[in-house]
Amino acid sequence: MGLYSEVLSEDRILKDIGDARNVLIVTCPGCACESIAYRNGGPCRTLAKGKDMDSSAAAVEAVRDEWDARLTALGKTVSHVTVSFPCEMFENERRSITEAAEGADAVAVLGCSSAFLAVHRLLKDINHAKTVPMMKTLGFFALNLIEDESGTHSVVDREHSEVFYFKVKKCVVGK
Ligand code: SF4
Repeated sequence: MGLYSEVLSEDRILKDIGDARNVLIVTCPGCACESIAYRNGGPCRTLAKGKDMDSSAAAVEAVRDEWDARLTALGKTVSHVTVSFPCEMFENERRSITEAAEGADAVAVLGCSSAFLAVHRLLKDINHAKTVPMMKTLGFFALNLIEDESGTHSVVDREHSEVFYFKVKKCVVGK
């Protein structure tokens, strides 16, 4: 199932990051990528990369790079790590996040609410960095993907796709 998530407002993310000097962005190249492409109407994945999820995730990488530039312009030091499926990680994937988070004051999660919860749970007892959600999950989707005009990227065929929205009003992540 693909979870449908939207990027939170710039104000909200900046407020949560606050005065953190070193920011790690954890990016999920999974359904966060299709969600952004659905919302923005732009390129989804680089077709030449085939089924390589990490390197094909053009839509989510574009958002990550925008945030990298935005935070860098604010004088922050930004690093990133990409983990496929933070919602279900092996030990080596958990370790890649904990190692990347060393020295970070804030860990921003560019993925669904499940990705945020997983990273928050992973770091809360071993790292003093605050975890910051960058997306909010609103439902799940059934998407039809097509090639763009240039044939280089997939795009979401919105006319033949659908997002099914949850009715949950609020979900609080435990401490
Ligand atoms: S962490 Fe969330 S966005 Fe990433 S693959 Fe899992 S369900 Fe999809």
